[in-house]
Amino acid sequence: MQFQDLAMVYEELEKTASRLEMTSILATLFKQADCKTLHRMIYLTQGQLYPDFYPQKLGMADRLLLKTLSMSSGMKDDDIQELWLKEGDPGIVAQKVFAVKKQRTLFSEALTLDRVYENLEKIAGSEGSGSQDVKMKLLAEILNDASAEEAKFISRMVTGHMRLGVAAMTVVDALALAFASKEDRDAIERAFNISSDLGKVGETLCRNGIDAIRQMQVEVGSPMRAMLAERLPSPQEILVRMGGKAAFEYKYDGVRVQAHIRDGKIQLFSRRLEDLTEQFPDVVKALKASFRMKSAIVEGECVPVDLNTGELLPFQEVSHRRGRKHGLQDAIEDYPVRVFLFDCVYLDGKDMTQMPYPERRKALESAFEKTEEARFSEMRIYDNVDGVEEFFKEALKDGCEGLMAKSVDENSFYRAGSRGFLWIKYKKEYRSEMTDTVDLVVVGAYAGRGRRAGNYGALLMATYNDQEDVFETVCKLGSGFDDATLAALPQKLEAHKLKEKHPKVVSKMEADYWFEPSMVLEVLGAEITVSPIHTTAYGLVRKDSGLAVRFPRFTGRFRDDKEPREATTSKELEQMYSKQLKKVES
Ligand code: ATP
Repeated sequence: MQFQDLAMVYEELEKTASRLEMTSILATLFKQADCKTLHRMIYLTQGQLYPDFYPQKLGMADRLLLKTLSMSSGMKDDDIQELWLKEGDPGIVAQKVFAVKKQRTLFSEALTLDRVYENLEKIAGSEGSGSQDVKMKLLAEILNDASAEEAKFISRMVTGHMRLGVAAMTVVDALALAFASKEDRDAIERAFNISSDLGKVGETLCRNGIDAIRQMQVEVGSPMRAMLAERLPSPQEILVRMGGKAAFEYKYDGVRVQAHIRDGKIQLFSRRLEDLTEQFPDVVKALKASFRMKSAIVEGECVPVDLNTGELLPFQEVSHRRGRKHGLQDAIEDYPVRVFLFDCVYLDGKDMTQMPYPERRKALESAFEKTEEARFSEMRIYDNVDGVEEFFKEALKDGCEGLMAKSVDENSFYRAGSRGFLWIKYKKEYRSEMTDTVDLVVVGAYAGRGRRAGNYGALLMATYNDQEDVFETVCKLGSGFDDATLAALPQKLEAHKLKEKHPKVVSKMEADYWFEPSMVLEVLGAEITVSPIHTTAYGLVRKDSGLAVRFPRFTGRFRDDKEPREATTSKELEQMYSKQLKKVES
């Protein structure tokens, strides 16, 4: 496929925020693709070269791109720099530079998708001394033959700023439309959820059809998207929802890990599918020592522990380890962790995602020997409220957040990537009326005044509307920041700054600064109210109104383990509002 054709499709995608329209544009594109290169097309459309969980990423420094643009176009460095300051978008700068560039020469060779992809791949893979020159040379090779539109998207890709706003689920819809039918969509989504690899799903579907998709299984080395829990405010409601009986487990407050084990080798993935193996060598060691079989995929929560008292410590202690390369050994000694295993989705060649939870738990317990460092989550089965309340108190006493109820029904399968009522969380916050936290996305900011002059005074926060794939504003957040956090915010947000509101943000309010939805903060509100100025759940509770979180406070916890699309959804906020209302009424 010619890269120019792909660039024209990207131009079209960029013009629309409608999920339906994006789906139809992508389906037309996929249908024309060669099965052999479809995976490359899918990754590039999402601004990637590989699935999310691959460590290698594109992200060439902007200044290297600008230098290469100057080399390839003959335009002076200073002029390009000036354009960069004005536009702030590597794509637009490249497009403008190339629009005035000399015509392609007789010797230029049209760019194919494969040629662009292969050079980008080499750029991402070059490391070490001299790699900057190598990267620039590889980039120049393709830019020399690029049109203005091609240069625009190559420049965005190579710097990691592709941002077409195509959600993974839109690609799933488009694959169904292109190669299967509406009824097959869920099977395609499942294949993505268990493999986290849209390229692989696309290629399998294109080459071997929907039956091959239905037969896809979890694989060691390919992380699944995590199964998530719904929430309910009381054991009564949980038991009713679970059909009178359920398994209850301690809800540990730590870091979720997915361990992939084969022939003595262990790889750990986070909930966001990052490779955590190097950050938790002690967990790898503990699992190795207690595993009795050949291969498995299991899940557990890593929790910091005080070695002197044996008590579990708050999550914040383990967050010191994340992203840490230097002094890791000190961090391991200062913040040792225990892993509490709670699920097993694959064991010695058998995919267990379609088996009920009690069988998976049994398999888990047979596959590991309980040790000091690697344990199983505390679990009991209850069919009465009093028992659950007692167990809940024990969980709090032992330093946990509350309980996770898990269905023991015959259909209690592992639903990768989905939030449903097969797992229900019951946390201490639900007991007092409006102290439950929500995870909100930063979409804008307001200039500070007085003591905050020169900094942000408040952030504009949003929930995620997963039906429409947009972010809806819900409050202005200015409390709960200490001075150091506040001072660090502009730098933290700089990479996500935009000239105008992001097309996926729905806001009735103006902001002084706009951001690409990316940073997720945990926020505690006093209550949820109807609000005509915010757009969360707009028109659902009352005509011409949305919902707002009142008196929001930052809890101090950056949810960098969550993607913006994993933030609290608008629907969840609406449910929290309705629950709160019922309580007030009663
Ligand atoms: P929260 O914000 O309430 O911590 P969340 O939005 O991060 O939750 P949820 O799906 O709502 O994610 O809650 C499930 C999380 O609880 C899991 O991702 C996991 O990290 C953690 N957890 C702790 N103990 C357990 C357990 N026994 N079983 C399953 N998950 C557990």
